[in-house]
Amino acid sequence: MPELNAESIAFRSALDVVRSVEPRIADAIAQELTDQRESLKLIASENYASPAVLLAMGNWLSDKYAEGTVGRRFYAGCQNVDIVESVAAEHAKALFGAPYAYVQPHSGIDANLVAYWAILADRVEVPYLKKFEKRQINDLTDAEWAELRQAFGNQRLLGMSLDAGGHLTHGFRPNISGKMFDQRSYGVDPATGQIDYAALLESAKEFKPAVIVGGYSAYPRKVNFAKMREIADEVGATFMVDMAHFAGLVAGGVFTGDFNPIEHAHIVTTTTHKSLRGPRGGAVFCQPELAPQVDRGCPMVLGGPLPHVMAAKAIAFAEARRPEFATYAQQIVTNSQALAEGLLKRGVQLVSGGTDNHLVLLDVHPFGITGRQAEQALLDSGIVTNRNAIPNDPNGAWYTSGIRVGTPALTSRGLGVAEMDQIADLIHTVLAATTPAEGSKAKFTLDPALADRISKQATELLAPFPLYPSVDLG
Ligand SMILES: *Cc1c(COP(=O)(O)O)cnc(C)c1O
Repeated sequence: MPELNAESIAFRSALDVVRSVEPRIADAIAQELTDQRESLKLIASENYASPAVLLAMGNWLSDKYAEGTVGRRFYAGCQNVDIVESVAAEHAKALFGAPYAYVQPHSGIDANLVAYWAILADRVEVPYLKKFEKRQINDLTDAEWAELRQAFGNQRLLGMSLDAGGHLTHGFRPNISGKMFDQRSYGVDPATGQIDYAALLESAKEFKPAVIVGGYSAYPRKVNFAKMREIADEVGATFMVDMAHFAGLVAGGVFTGDFNPIEHAHIVTTTTHKSLRGPRGGAVFCQPELAPQVDRGCPMVLGGPLPHVMAAKAIAFAEARRPEFATYAQQIVTNSQALAEGLLKRGVQLVSGGTDNHLVLLDVHPFGITGRQAEQALLDSGIVTNRNAIPNDPNGAWYTSGIRVGTPALTSRGLGVAEMDQIADLIHTVLAATTPAEGSKAKFTLDPALADRISKQATELLAPFPLYPSVDLG
């Protein structure tokens, strides 16, 4: 019998220990690996973190409370957490060429909240804290909200509209950012599907926002952050970029110059688990002037730091500094463009007609189906995507008319241009075979034999590209 490698021993042993307490959890963890291995994952926001990243999270660093910042904690005995946090920040700064990095945020939403409060605290005198600190933020009445906003000068935020690819945390009502700010959206030029910078400038001049937010979850093109900074400067706004989705492309040197947000924004937020391929988490980068406010993230809006996750972030940032990561980042885009080509050549309509980044947005309207129907039909055929609104979506944000696909995860597995063309074919075949049920935006018919055949083809396509090849659970 061949000797087991370190990763296999580590994960097998960890599962044995977990199984001794609650076997169902051990089984679910093991099953998740099997399921991930078998699924053709085109979800643009997901990826596969390395074994080193995963293992850095499963330990006693988790036991430590460490509110505050490096060297200035509200708890004793944080010497090891200090090392973890400073090494993570050091790698993060070097990776992105950023003057300052705050690696505590637990998620992308949290990173945005830290950034918003930092911006507001930096711009506005803050007598509000005394009055509201003993209240739960959700308990405030509308009148109190108005007062709180007034304390901040009734601040305005200009962000990308949801149907153009913006994110809920960019000032929309279901997220607290929509309660903190009066939001106005900028969108895309209907003719090109790309950001209309002239309209953005006009809107900024008229609305006079305190904050302009760049960044997106479902926009398939590069964004000219240099131009957006000029607009922000012209109206005196703070320019924030949320690079949650495309941080890996910035880290890997795909987005440079005008398209690198770190060079142009006052403050940049990110997740660490999407194209960056780290643990679930967030981070904030900023100019030194904003750092003291960013450092107040915990306890302003964050619970105690997660030292085990910061350890995993340090590993992920270190991995992303290697030359292989730049190759990976470039391949994400090459694959995404190959997928777009493959779809276009089969007559599938794409928002903006193509892609410059890791994602492609399909307009499924010409197939006579909704995004909801397309998403389920593809899932029934073994292809995991998600539905997404498209600009001026006639089916709204729930049913939608779009399907978002992304290549970071499959590129991590090693799939390339040839496989992207095959995947385009599978997607096209399923969409063309899906018939909406009379009068329904959710129900549809799809020949089960066809779904089964596509599903088998998807599995065959993945076979030469094993996921976590170094991990053998036995
Ligand atoms: C995914 C995403 C977030 C939220 O990240 P979470 O870690 O899920 O909180 C925020 N902003 C953008 C643009 C995103 O795409």
